Amino acid sequence: MDAEALREVVRRYGTPAYVYDLNRIRARVTALRAALPPAVDILYSVKANPTALICRLLADSGVGAEVASPGELAVTLEAGFAPRRLLATGPYKSPSMLARLGALPGVLLSVDSVSELAALAETDGGPDLLLRLRPDFDPAGDVRMDAASRFGIPLDDLAAARPYLRRCTGFHVYPGSQILDGEQAAGNVRAAYDLAMTAAAVLGVTPRVLDLGGGFGIPYGPGDVELELGPVAETLRTLAAQAPQTRLMLELGRYLVADAGWYLTAVAAHQTWQGRPAVVVDGGTHHRPDLCGLDLPRRVGPPALLKPASGPRVPVAVLGCLCLPWDILAERADLPRLTVGDVLAFPNAGAYGLSAAAHGFISHPLPAEVAIDGDELVALRTPVDALARAGVP
Ligand SMILES: *Cc1c(COP(=O)(O)O)cnc(C)c1O
Repeated sequence: MDAEALREVVRRYGTPAYVYDLNRIRARVTALRAALPPAVDILYSVKANPTALICRLLADSGVGAEVASPGELAVTLEAGFAPRRLLATGPYKSPSMLARLGALPGVLLSVDSVSELAALAETDGGPDLLLRLRPDFDPAGDVRMDAASRFGIPLDDLAAARPYLRRCTGFHVYPGSQILDGEQAAGNVRAAYDLAMTAAAVLGVTPRVLDLGGGFGIPYGPGDVELELGPVAETLRTLAAQAPQTRLMLELGRYLVADAGWYLTAVAAHQTWQGRPAVVVDGGTHHRPDLCGLDLPRRVGPPALLKPASGPRVPVAVLGCLCLPWDILAERADLPRLTVGDVLAFPNAGAYGLSAAAHGFISHPLPAEVAIDGDELVALRTPVDALARAGVP
């Protein structure tokens, strides 16, 4: 991203602000499509970033969507995703969401438990179903769903699903997230396929749809490398050849949008923390959470400084603006000497940002949200001054 575009966002909308570069998302989808076999359907996991403009861009680029709430379903329908490109997932679907799904031709629903399946079997019509299977293997990923996890049907419970298979059309397996090793990503997909085949044998069915997860990660820290897609593409090619009648799907969130986002926050004061220099900024973890428990404040590389700077870099802690001891954006960022007013740009902020944040806590204003589409800036949200709005003189 060109720093001048980010500086223009600051000039127009101030800080703190989220910025999304739409061309980066387009480039991600294009590169992913070129790397993976065409038979594999890619779904966007909307929880990574439900911004309407981003959803519209992804709908236009031909991917499908994975939605887990009425709000996510609404945003995808408004964005123009065709119902047959949608998969509804999650441990709870509200009655109104189920009613709406039932009226959408071709939509798929992932069933989390035998109990949910039995309840769905009592209704007439409704979407085709995928049974979510709980991995029986040790998956790769920084976030792992293994045999001790909480989602999906364990193999041991599967036989109880037999009376309710009428609308079941396949399986859904989601083993792990934030994987950076190509062989490990391929291993998860292969293990998910094998688990689905075991389940198919237990139930005596032939799956027509297999959602094999994804979990592709992005490099956050200085030691992280870009995920090599070759091995997972090869595995998917093999599986597509093995099961030519089966629709194969992956669901990806972070991988599609994370590197398109920046979080901009300005230095408000100098401070010290754990014996080293620190700055307090006007943003914080109420906007930029580490929801997935990836330990980002310790792991991320330094934010970019949005002004030319020379001189030695020293480790600085970047402290958020909340009255909360662990509101820390970076524990040790090597940065040049900072001045009050300097703007720091945290990269890889496009996934699990504002929508994943406890932004109600302490009632600081919401940040601006701005999309950059080529040369154009599109304001998605401008900050509201709570005191002015309340008429406080
Ligand atoms: C969160 C989630 C995803 C997306 O995970 P990423 O790591 O962002 O790709 C996909 N599938 C399920 C079931 C999820 O819960």
